Amino acid sequence: MSTATMTEVWHPNVGTFVAQTRKMLINGQWVNAQSGKTFPTYDPATGKVLAHVTEGDKADIDLAVQAARKAFEQGPWRKMTSSDRGKVIWRLADLLESNLEEFAQLESLDNGKPLTIARAADVPLAVDLFRYMAGWTTKIEGNTIPISVPYMPGAEFLAYTRREPVGVVGQIIPWNFPLLMAAWKLGPALAVGCTIVMKPAEQTPLSALRLGELIIEAGFPEGVVNIVPGYGETAGAALASHPDVDKVAFTGSTEVGKLILNAASGNLKKVTLELGGKSPSLVLSDADLESGIPGVASAIFFNHGQCCAAGSRLYVEKSIFDTVVAGVADQAKQITLGPGMNPSTQMGPLVSVEQQQRVLEYLESGLAEGAEAVAGGKRRGDQGYFVEPTVLVKTTSTMKVIQEEIFGPVVCAEPFQDVDEVIQKANNNIYGLAAAVWTKDLSKAHRIAARLRAGTVWINCHNIFDAALPFGGYKQSGWGREMGHEALDLYTEVKSVCAKLA
Ligand code: NAP
Ligand code: MG
Repeated sequence: MSTATMTEVWHPNVGTFVAQTRKMLINGQWVNAQSGKTFPTYDPATGKVLAHVTEGDKADIDLAVQAARKAFEQGPWRKMTSSDRGKVIWRLADLLESNLEEFAQLESLDNGKPLTIARAADVPLAVDLFRYMAGWTTKIEGNTIPISVPYMPGAEFLAYTRREPVGVVGQIIPWNFPLLMAAWKLGPALAVGCTIVMKPAEQTPLSALRLGELIIEAGFPEGVVNIVPGYGETAGAALASHPDVDKVAFTGSTEVGKLILNAASGNLKKVTLELGGKSPSLVLSDADLESGIPGVASAIFFNHGQCCAAGSRLYVEKSIFDTVVAGVADQAKQITLGPGMNPSTQMGPLVSVEQQQRVLEYLESGLAEGAEAVAGGKRRGDQGYFVEPTVLVKTTSTMKVIQEEIFGPVVCAEPFQDVDEVIQKANNNIYGLAAAVWTKDLSKAHRIAARLRAGTVWINCHNIFDAALPFGGYKQSGWGREMGHEALDLYTEVKSVCAKLA
């Protein structure tokens, strides 16, 4: 493992953007917090303050919800044709694409991820998501339903359904893909005509705030999108419990997901949750190891393991266990760690000192319980929040490292004897977000896919995301789906209209 040190020169707009205290977006205006408070966001490669951001709390959430309510009930948004609504969303995608480099840099600086990844994945995926959802605006359809009404013989009816926007939506997002998570949430809500109050993660508020500028430029009417940065316990909790919010959509930890659910119960607002995971990679003895070994390594090390779908449990058929583990350990050792802004960096720092501490505690606990690190296993350097890409062996099913989500670059590898055993192991977890099967026998792969209790199953690949492909969790990995037309359904109410014909 080498360490990269040189960093890319900042895009001039990035320098200007971080130099000023960033305000929040309420009712189309950039404003300070009612309290006047601000909070810092850090560059995780150095631990130094990157920018100051206005700190929203309950009072600001109240104003933002008021603005969103007014925009929903009285603004031009609801009256716009669906085609015009699509054009505005498409314009946002175009603006984002033309500012790709600036967004990639902001994302890399605020989150720590490699600039090369932000350029290739985070920003283009967000652009694509907005375009996909822009196309849906004109296709939000109900049904015409033949009804029989047995207690009114001979009567005739015209019955149909309308899919209407659920209303004012609160959206709370995490720090692992800050811009992309904003897009996953905003895209479907905007496509169906909702209005929004979004709270970005305290660690990574910058790209959402810059996106707010493009939202104004794209021509969204005032109040349609409001962005209130702040802390989860204050701004987030106020949004989740707000009596005038019709739905809350959350991505983050399962623990906080349960708090959101409780907070939402006051007015029974609709809830969707995209939560944690402990996704298994299953490698069968007939797998193509040339693509399989780098594949399962990237499944965990991509985005430093800070991926809800990270392949953090690696189950390998016994006959090839040593070969695969040696191969993955070798991949781990070759990963270049460094600041995200260095063009040769393959893995950046974790997002925060808390996250680094959390991952190191898991490593300590695993090693104390008898696991062994065949690659990595500790912190890297004394500046920034780096943790070595780690491969643990000799884990057992009761250890915390195999049961709980670490959300860092740590994979636990265990051997298995046969398919029934590995399916039992794979499903033996409170989470059910994703899973991957590596084998050349596609019939076997599809049979295994059907038996895995997970919202996504990848075959001979991992971390494939697309705006058209629904994503979400079984079990404690969540409620509902992101992306695809499934996401749109969850931002609409179905209204049945029934007319008696004379
Ligand atoms: P988190 O605490 O669940 O935070 C996610 C979002 O919820 C943030 O915007 C957060 O605000 C907000 N929040 C926190 N407490 C809240 C509350 N009581 N009411 C309303 N909103 C609240 O996640 P985290 O602390 O950033 O990361 C912890 C763990 O969550 C990770 O290690 C990982 O296991 C999991 N995680 C999962 C995903 C995923 O994609 N499924 C993504 C990120 C993290 P603040 O920013 O102020 O905390
Ligand atoms: Mg930051």
